[in-house]
Amino acid sequence: IFDMWSEADEQELADCSKYDDLKTLEQSSIFSMDCDKILETQGTPRHRYRPKYLTVSDLAKQHWCEQQLLYDLSPEVYLIRALPEMKVNLKETPEQSETKEKGSDIHLAREMEIQVPVPVKVESKEDEWAVKLLNLQFAVMAFHKGCKLAREIPVFGMPFGGDIFIFGIIDELQFDLQQYTIAISELKTRKSCHPPKKGQQEKDEFQVGLYAQLFNELVQGKMNKDLMAIHLQLNMETQLSQGLKSHINGLGTNFRSANCSLGSVVDTVLNQVQSMICIKEVKIEYIHQDTKAVISTVDTALDTNYIQKVFTEQQQWWNGQRGTRGVEVEDCWKCHFCKFSELCEWREIMAAKQGR
Ligand code: SF4
Repeated sequence: IFDMWSEADEQELADCSKYDDLKTLEQSSIFSMDCDKILETQGTPRHRYRPKYLTVSDLAKQHWCEQQLLYDLSPEVYLIRALPEMKVNLKETPEQSETKEKGSDIHLAREMEIQVPVPVKVESKEDEWAVKLLNLQFAVMAFHKGCKLAREIPVFGMPFGGDIFIFGIIDELQFDLQQYTIAISELKTRKSCHPPKKGQQEKDEFQVGLYAQLFNELVQGKMNKDLMAIHLQLNMETQLSQGLKSHINGLGTNFRSANCSLGSVVDTVLNQVQSMICIKEVKIEYIHQDTKAVISTVDTALDTNYIQKVFTEQQQWWNGQRGTRGVEVEDCWKCHFCKFSELCEWREIMAAKQGR
């Protein structure tokens, strides 16, 4: 499997630190506008924050709390609500960084059990997407070679005939060639040794279900080169860089010709994915970060109707067809863990409604 890097990554890191500085500003002025009014004047959330494509992680965060996602995406929106005495410091605490790092290490160790990532330099966005396609192709090859597993599989598409392009990476696909089934499996690491609350588990089930839907629609042939070119602003005629071509030539795939454009990779891989079968079963495994012990598992059938219902409502928000919502009253425990709770306008609205 390829692990891509580019010189632009370093610039992006520099930009991130500037963004962090902005996030730690202590705001001294107060305005009375609310988030949705600001957004109205500056375009839909989709145009503003994700003009090309959303990730499955964006939608999982939205499932947790849409208001929190908005604050996370848009420092200027919450900063204008911050009172001078509020210290809005959104930098990760050392404890949060450690938790994240431990989770990444466990995921990497899992991946390394079956494959070693090969660093590949990418020189254009077309190279980047070719690498994603090739990593998807490795899963197809694993399935047809009789392997039991594939890990870190990129999937993408426009689920349920919607107009938003989504990208994500599946943790693991499990192939049972005797039963001729494919199950999707997601590993979640937890700092606590207790099983997740219902709200956390629902978010995880939605996330995995959406991955499965993207995969299934690829198998059903619902993605094509033209849709990718339009939504991702890719030029399918672009030749891949020499460095990437030389990696491809070493793979033993059928991309050997000197004329290796992104379009030829897309056509080949999308065609090959259709030789697989759809996912029907979803598994989630919760593991304790420190002991690596399994805390709990979820093993369930894919609930496409639920995924579609949630996704359709989410899509309305991204397209500016409705305002922003926070958590429902029964989920207000989430606010205790939220860094925005002091200035959250959704909480103000809910409190006002209850006081009526
Ligand atoms: Fe969402 Fe509660 Fe945070 Fe507001 S305080 S953003 S409703 S989790």
